[in-house]
Amino acid sequence: MYTVAQLIGGVWGAGGAGGELVVHDPADGSPVTTMPVATADEVAKAVEAAREVAAEWAAAPPAERAAALHRAADAVAALAEELAQATTAEMGKPLDDARGGVAAGIGTLRQYAELGLVRGGRTLHGAHSALDFMAPEPRGVVAAITPWNDPVAVSCGLLGAALVTGNVVLYKPSERTPATGWLLARALDSALPAGVLSLLTGGGRVGAALAEQDVDVVAHVGSTATGRAIAAAGARTGAKVLLENGGSDPLVIDADVDPVWAAKQAALGCFANAGQICVAVERIYVHRDVAEDFVDALVDRAEALKRGPGRDPGTQLGPLVDRRHRDHVHGQVTAAAAEGARIRTGGEIPEGPGAFYPATVVVDCRHEMALVREETFGPVAPVVVVDSFSEGLRCAADSPYGLAATVLTGSMSHAHRAWRDLPFGTVKVNAVFGGAPGGAAQPRRGSGQGFGYGPELLDEFSTVKTVHIEAPGGGHW
Ligand code: NAD
Repeated sequence: MYTVAQLIGGVWGAGGAGGELVVHDPADGSPVTTMPVATADEVAKAVEAAREVAAEWAAAPPAERAAALHRAADAVAALAEELAQATTAEMGKPLDDARGGVAAGIGTLRQYAELGLVRGGRTLHGAHSALDFMAPEPRGVVAAITPWNDPVAVSCGLLGAALVTGNVVLYKPSERTPATGWLLARALDSALPAGVLSLLTGGGRVGAALAEQDVDVVAHVGSTATGRAIAAAGARTGAKVLLENGGSDPLVIDADVDPVWAAKQAALGCFANAGQICVAVERIYVHRDVAEDFVDALVDRAEALKRGPGRDPGTQLGPLVDRRHRDHVHGQVTAAAAEGARIRTGGEIPEGPGAFYPATVVVDCRHEMALVREETFGPVAPVVVVDSFSEGLRCAADSPYGLAATVLTGSMSHAHRAWRDLPFGTVKVNAVFGGAPGGAAQPRRGSGQGFGYGPELLDEFSTVKTVHIEAPGGGHW
């Protein structure tokens, strides 16, 4: 059992007068973590304390901040197995996936430690006696509010980029993965000057109290509804708001692809992490010519997945994060069935403890069903049959979200049309997941605003000062 503590003003164990929450293992319902809940007053005090050390951290030489981040990455690496186990116990994902998320987080910290060193601005040359330059500066106090679905990888992106650019950070991990957030914060804090990082714990109310504070940036990774509430708070306070939110990513399957390979891609996209990935495949538009063979192969793949607790070796499909979320997923599946869709496999809540849900394939879906249009965030593959690649692209584009999209096609001209026509932050051709290290993405519409990851995230956490210097004695008047 983990007992989480907050970190406020450089002091571990501070605050928590808002009560206590317990996190249960979604595989069997056993208690895993207790965490304190911050009051609004504690949140305000934490922001005040962070503000007091902001100028000093901002003035630290970039090499010093980069060295601290390298040390932080080493400290996280030393805790890697514990972090992975805490993630699996708290939110249920297969242990190997959790290990992958921790490794990705460490990689991101190291990447930002390297990139932080080489940042510079533009230099401009006007009159011979003058010099103009644009110097990046930290924004000041950053609130980082994060989700549970890949807690270490996501948090390391925001925290690494904000810290190395010279900001102080108030970190509010998800109330479903607080021990993971606490272990991560302990590792990072061990490498940083006291007070540069703070940890606040609790649920949405603590996040909302933080977003209402006088901070310079609120960076939120999480649901679209929460992102919108944070954007509204930012409009009131004047804070910059960075949002990486929900999606309903389409997969378009062309007439010329091998349906068995397409099913393999679709199964990975729909069922990895039990569908609880921001860029999971949430809806499939398959060409009529390959639809039948594709669906048969996808059903086979769904039924072959090894289900079980994430801690068991070989598990491919762990539980959902909790039963409330399972009810949401199942509600969308049953609503689609009531509207005429057919469940080819899965779609039933299993007996027994935990929040398990089977890999589910739903056919005869229509584009306007909520299962297709909304984010499901579960192991569900809704299939819509289309008569042309163009129809697939049209349906894919018609969405309130704009996170990512994938097309599978053997045609170079279709591939080029897809990346030009699809209004998403990321377009993938012939692979549902992947992307070069150091890549960034900029979500659109309901999926958020601002860059996630990459060198561009360093720019998001920085502001620029433009300087014009002339030799004394000049001037036209
Ligand atoms: P969530 O928005 O409910 O919670 C995320 C964080 O926001 C938590 O720390 C939570 O306590 C806090 N929060 C909740 N209400 C708040 C409020 N009113 N004000 C301020 N903070 C508040 O999201 P979740 O359920 O934890 O995560 C799942 C969602 O995250 C999915 O929609 C998924 O697509 C999205 N996600 C997006 C990305 C991306 O990069 N685009 C990555 C991972 C997850």
